[in-house]
Amino acid sequence: MAEGTVGIVVGAANARVGMQVAVEILRAGGSAIDAAIAAAREVEDNLADHGVGTGGIPNILGEVELDASIMDGKTLATGAVGAIKNYPNPIDIARKVMELTPHVMIVGEGAELFAKHHGFTTANLLTPEAEESWRVRIKEPEAHGGNMYEDQYQLYAQAVQDWTKLLHEEIFGTTNVIARDLEGNIACAVTTSGWGFKWPGRLGDSPIIGAGNYADNRFGAAACTGRGEMAIRAASAHSVVASMRCGMSLDDALQQAMTDLSYFPDKFAERESAMNIVAMDAFGNVNAASTSDKAEFVVQTVEMDEYELRPRMFIPLKRD
Ligand code: ASP
Repeated sequence: MAEGTVGIVVGAANARVGMQVAVEILRAGGSAIDAAIAAAREVEDNLADHGVGTGGIPNILGEVELDASIMDGKTLATGAVGAIKNYPNPIDIARKVMELTPHVMIVGEGAELFAKHHGFTTANLLTPEAEESWRVRIKEPEAHGGNMYEDQYQLYAQAVQDWTKLLHEEIFGTTNVIARDLEGNIACAVTTSGWGFKWPGRLGDSPIIGAGNYADNRFGAAACTGRGEMAIRAASAHSVVASMRCGMSLDDALQQAMTDLSYFPDKFAERESAMNIVAMDAFGNVNAASTSDKAEFVVQTVEMDEYELRPRMFIPLKRD
């Protein structure tokens, strides 16, 4: 039997809808990969969640574009898809990329072609609620007293820039799920519709290994939500794991990765909930951090009947 806590799942708070299914897989002796993916898929299918899968807020053109990645901490195998449209479960497609191709990331039309050839079925991902949110802010802002721009490009460009004003907590939120199975193998799944009203083709941190997702059985795993561009610039998920590799505790590694974000300028990241990281060490200890003092994360072990929401460590961005 592996050391430490085995049979454990940790995730962003919105992963709560997937905890039970993941834990049941682990209880039955299933793999960390199967558990992490099953939980992520539940969030993708949750229409009330406007940051992931079906129901996600669309890009500026009103199209829902999804990003997802999976990493196997036993082999460091990984697969990702980005800016994929019309396929409701990108996490399953990311897994196929990992298992069946020599690539690690496929985006846009290529990802859609790949999904089609592997028998995935298409669906309309734009729910009436998400469409309405786009129509009010982007498509017909004049009708709602909002268009101060002279042309469409300016409107789009400004909408992308003004994401902090356009979005509020409920309509944005990637999900992260890290699982450790009974054999001590760790896997990490991340899936998102990305920023609402993003530029078409924009990729965040979620499909980028090292930025939004990293897992290595020997040291642990980490995954991010929030302003993906910051996690890309700081390679935040890998940074947490690398710090643990160098001997730091889980909490210190999280603290370090969050503190690193304060050292580079980012004029778009003044929002209080700019960045969030969940992490697990090689022994199945878990914790999470956020730049918001209200953020939570979710944990369930195979011994627990229900998930538990826990507060994240509060590590604000320091800006002069
Ligand atoms: N990290 C995601 C991105 O930048 C957004 C989120 O966490 O909601 O696409």
